[in-house]
Amino acid sequence: MDFNLSDEQKMIQNLAREFARKEIAPNADYYDKKAEFPHEIQAKARELGLINVLIPEKYGGSGLSAVEMIIVTEELAWACTGITVGGIVMSTLTSQPILIAGNEEQKRKYLGRLAEGFGSYCVTEPGAGSDVASMRSTAKKTKGRYILNGQKTWITNASQASFFVVFAKTEPGAGHRGLSAFLVDLELPGVEVSKKLAKMGQKATDACEVNFNNVELTSDSLLGREGDGFKIAMKTFDHSRPSVAAMGVGISQRALDECISYSKEREAFGQPIVNFQGVGFKIADMGMRTQAARLLTYNAASKAARGERNTIEASYAKTFASDTAMWAATEAVQIHGGYGYSEEYPLEKLMRDAKILQIYEGTNEIQRVVMVKELTRD
Ligand SMILES: Cc1cc2nc3c(=O)[nH]c(=O)nc-3n(C[C@H](O)[C@H](O)[C@H](O)COP(=O)(O)OP(=O)(O)OC[C@H]3O[C@@H](n4cnc5c(N)ncnc54)[C@H](O)[C@@H]3O)c2cc1C
Repeated sequence: MDFNLSDEQKMIQNLAREFARKEIAPNADYYDKKAEFPHEIQAKARELGLINVLIPEKYGGSGLSAVEMIIVTEELAWACTGITVGGIVMSTLTSQPILIAGNEEQKRKYLGRLAEGFGSYCVTEPGAGSDVASMRSTAKKTKGRYILNGQKTWITNASQASFFVVFAKTEPGAGHRGLSAFLVDLELPGVEVSKKLAKMGQKATDACEVNFNNVELTSDSLLGREGDGFKIAMKTFDHSRPSVAAMGVGISQRALDECISYSKEREAFGQPIVNFQGVGFKIADMGMRTQAARLLTYNAASKAARGERNTIEASYAKTFASDTAMWAATEAVQIHGGYGYSEEYPLEKLMRDAKILQIYEGTNEIQRVVMVKELTRD
């Protein structure tokens, strides 16, 4: 078992680290406060190959594996998960269904679009989040075409997307077996990106409602076969949950780094606060848990990179790393005292940004549902 990164992986890590510290970190606060999409930063990241990491080179991506993807994601997330989610994480989420189930023509067209722009992934509806199979969106087949109707909510990057991967029911009475996945172009009549939703954190990337009103889709919009939707969504999560975990590791590492330097400088009772065991033990735990989260994340990603089934490992990593990020960010605010609560320090943003990692791509309760199912499988 080798826990070391290869020379190539170290090179990619350094590239991402340098970019994150020079280009993202100094601007993260601005984009968070303005709740504005950082076009220039995303364009530079794309140019350096730090967005479409998993997309094969022949479709315009970097052609690397899930391990390099999480290495890059952690480094960028250290600087700002709001910016990271709008770039590399959404690239992973929208490219995976196409790589898993798309035909050659779909791959050329839509992965090619990701090479130059953005897409979105539409599962959640106002009345259906965790319970995916209860969604109401329908794609009714008539005369060789599908008519798509439905409302999706919390769709990340929707205001930037040129297309959507949309999950809808082609057989409404058939539970999760009745779900299918479609590639839907923004410019089709009946596609409407509406309300931008105000949110707690990760503000450099927006989330919107998207409505589909009698959108006419040709049969080549279908990903895989009718009824494959649930399978495609779940396989996609096996690849994308490690990227959420990697964002958690990035946040925890940032919290740790900030606490190490602050606790050595800040004095109370005539000495640096790091000397107090109550502070030092928090920092020790932060280091230990961050490393444990990182190893779980590497494990989930390396199984994916080897083409092995990693459902439980992806859930372990996503849950542990996001819980660790939330815990570490909260403790980091505490170690910084009143300054931790101030908008002038990066800690309160870390705390706001960490919270969503426990909710999207399947809440951490749903991850435990997945774990127990996998652990008790006959
Ligand atoms: C900022 C943001 C970005 C997002 N981006 C996207 C996106 O790009 N695309 C997309 O499709 N969705 C996206 N989502 C939606 C997100 O994936 C859902 O919010 C999430 O899956 C939870 O669904 P819900 O909000 O409907 O909560 P609910 O499903 O209503 O859950 C409410 C609570 O009940 C718990 N619960 C539900 N079922 C169970 C159970 N069986 N056992 C134990 N507890 C349970 C949940 O864990 C949760 O605590 C995003 C959400 C946010 C906030």
